[in-house]
Amino acid sequence: MLITRPRGTNDILPGEVEKWQFLEQLTGQVCREYGYGEIRTPIFEHTELFSRGVGETTDIVEKEMYTFTDRGDRSITLRPEGTASTVRAYVENKLYALPQPVKVYYAGPMFRYDRPQAGRYRQFHQFGVEVFGSNDPAIDAEVIAMAMDIYQRIGLKNLELHLNSVGCPACRPVLRQRLQEYFKPHLENLCLNCQGRYERNPLRILDCKSEKCQGFGKDAPTTLDVLCPDCADHFAAVKGYLDEVGVSYTVNNRLVRGLDYYTRTAFEIMTQDIGAQSSIGGGGRYNGLIEECGGPATPGIGFALGLERILLTAERQGIVFPIARGPQVFIAIAGGGVAKKAFGLLQSLRQQGIAAEQDFLGRSLKAQMKYAGKLAARLVIILGEEEYNRGVAVVRDMQAGEQQEVALGDLVGFIQERR
Ligand code: AMP
Repeated sequence: MLITRPRGTNDILPGEVEKWQFLEQLTGQVCREYGYGEIRTPIFEHTELFSRGVGETTDIVEKEMYTFTDRGDRSITLRPEGTASTVRAYVENKLYALPQPVKVYYAGPMFRYDRPQAGRYRQFHQFGVEVFGSNDPAIDAEVIAMAMDIYQRIGLKNLELHLNSVGCPACRPVLRQRLQEYFKPHLENLCLNCQGRYERNPLRILDCKSEKCQGFGKDAPTTLDVLCPDCADHFAAVKGYLDEVGVSYTVNNRLVRGLDYYTRTAFEIMTQDIGAQSSIGGGGRYNGLIEECGGPATPGIGFALGLERILLTAERQGIVFPIARGPQVFIAIAGGGVAKKAFGLLQSLRQQGIAAEQDFLGRSLKAQMKYAGKLAARLVIILGEEEYNRGVAVVRDMQAGEQQEVALGDLVGFIQERR
């Protein structure tokens, strides 16, 4: 019986993987420019990290985690997102003793048991950054501007940046009370999950995916109605910095994000070009999370971008990635007598940094030329016995369709000139 990959996972095949490598290179370059160093944390963590860090009442923790008991009877969870792990690493490795702010980035697979569809998978990939130790609104603006810079360098268009402030522990009780007053008459008509959230965390009702709950939440009071003066000042300053660097945004007071740890700034980047799963990235500030995870009170902020959705958007927008295709050189073997010499030449070209390939199926010369075309080789070295004995080979430029004899000793220089 054929064994297939688990639902909601993808194989990233040669031909496609080059786009991923391009994104990795681009994001790495941007991070160097913005002063972020890479961090790599485990793919699985103690379940408690996420239930505490992401929030008990979130969809992620309530319905979407890949949780299992390991052979030592511990509850383990495949990471559904990157922030909680990064915070744990910051605390556990005492990175708060370093000069602040500490700026890190990560990239890798995340796991959520969600209903798969275009742009939504059970194993997907995020690139994200986190900044610890600064409450400066300029850092909020840096993080947001950096995300937009990455999209822009990829060439993505038609993006909307939604911006909100979700307040702090001082504003929340007021909002909680107002939300409970607002939802009280609708309580019995909310979904079962939201009925539970009403007591535990009514703000989450605004993030419910059920249309019914979204309908009831339409005119609910919002965080912006109840911001304390400090949060209001912070929000105004973030907008001021974004204006300064020309990053345009829409204030969206309905934006609450799917994770509980956010305080103050919350943002999400959307596109209409990929259907229902329109969020291609998001993030925000989480000033209570580090303390919640056992560290000293430390402010934090970050974002995560979904790499599959970036690639999907790029494809829908017809963006072509600058990806080098095919080998520089293909060696065509014209006669069995030179097979060993061809293999030696192949190896020596590679050792000199030239991407080179040959035939391994015993093809005829004509079939080898066809195969070299399929590989998109730029040059073909045709190595024949007679030419070899004269110390030369024929080199064909596949694009120009021209060929000439080159002395074997001059081959490397000839190829390098045509890079
Ligand atoms: P979140 O951690 O939920 O804020 O998600 C951040 C980004 O990750 C989203 O904007 C999406 O681009 C991406 N993402 C989240 N969940 C999925 C998923 N199930 N499949 C693919 N991408 C996802």
